[in-house]
Amino acid sequence: MTIGFIGLGIMGRPMSKNLIKAGYKLAVYDKFAKFDDLVALGAEGASSNKEAASKSDVVITMLPNSPHVKEAILGPGGVIEGIGPGKIVVDMSSIAPAASREVEEALKAKGAAFLDAPVSGGEPKAVDGTLAIMVGGDQKSFDTVKPILEKMGSSVTLVGDIGSGNITKLANQIVVALNIAAVSEAFVLAAKAGVDPVKVFDAIKGGLAGSTVMNAKIPMILDGNFKPGFRVELHIKDLQNALDTAHKLGVPVPLTAAVMETLQALKVDGMVASDHSAIIRYYEKLAQIEVRK
Ligand code: NAD
Repeated sequence: MTIGFIGLGIMGRPMSKNLIKAGYKLAVYDKFAKFDDLVALGAEGASSNKEAASKSDVVITMLPNSPHVKEAILGPGGVIEGIGPGKIVVDMSSIAPAASREVEEALKAKGAAFLDAPVSGGEPKAVDGTLAIMVGGDQKSFDTVKPILEKMGSSVTLVGDIGSGNITKLANQIVVALNIAAVSEAFVLAAKAGVDPVKVFDAIKGGLAGSTVMNAKIPMILDGNFKPGFRVELHIKDLQNALDTAHKLGVPVPLTAAVMETLQALKVDGMVASDHSAIIRYYEKLAQIEVRK
């Protein structure tokens, strides 16, 4: 079986390396990033999205947002020109659920199947092959690609029909953004009160307030390390998709809207390329205090 892998950025590159390590034959392509390192590891380089798809039985895409996925799959020279009946396209990008449904319709007309399968866990888990993968689509296609997804993730869950993977991912991104904001507000209060934030972390991480987000982000914040990881601009994209989807469904999301404005303030402050843990920089500026070791 040959797997086409399109989108070799922060996430796609280590994910594709894990597939090569697992023994799969890969055809790789990225519109902007070089991929000589993957070719050196045994992957075949393609010169377009169409070519990567035509060489493959299963095509995986890992791209920034809905417009990139639509361009790469449905655009001129896109995946759709290189596929046909029996092939399966798995989009692992985090995009709007409505865009997943649109892409599925177009691929169905060519006889190909489509799954939306976004991931949670970030770069370290992409490297380790321990991502959480949430999938939307039909059971048969899911069963076919599950062994492939298991080489990139430690949990692979079919959550429902097409678009359900991205609905689940939007829920995930709301929880993560609000959790970083809550941790930020709390630690800025403690620091301004003169209490050592390292000791606050030690004291509360094992209690009800503790979280995976706190364990991942507080050590970075204490070191003043805002290198991405997950860029502010990608979280703006996810919350925009969450707001649009929620409003279309008639679901008010007031806390998501508030954190979106925090992210917009970081954008104005030139921090779109920082890790989303930089949310604390907004609170630090308001209170004129830094949460550091
Ligand atoms: P990235 O920007 O590092 O990589 C995206 C890659 O897609 C780039 O190399 C770019 O050149 C390529 N690309 C863009 N348009 C293309 C096209 N039309 N054809 C072919 N290639 C194209 O982004 P990333 O951090 O790897 O994130 C990818 C997706 O995964 C996003 O949806 C993101 O929200 C999601 N995600 C990221 C993280 C993280 O921690 N970085 C965690 C979970 C989920």
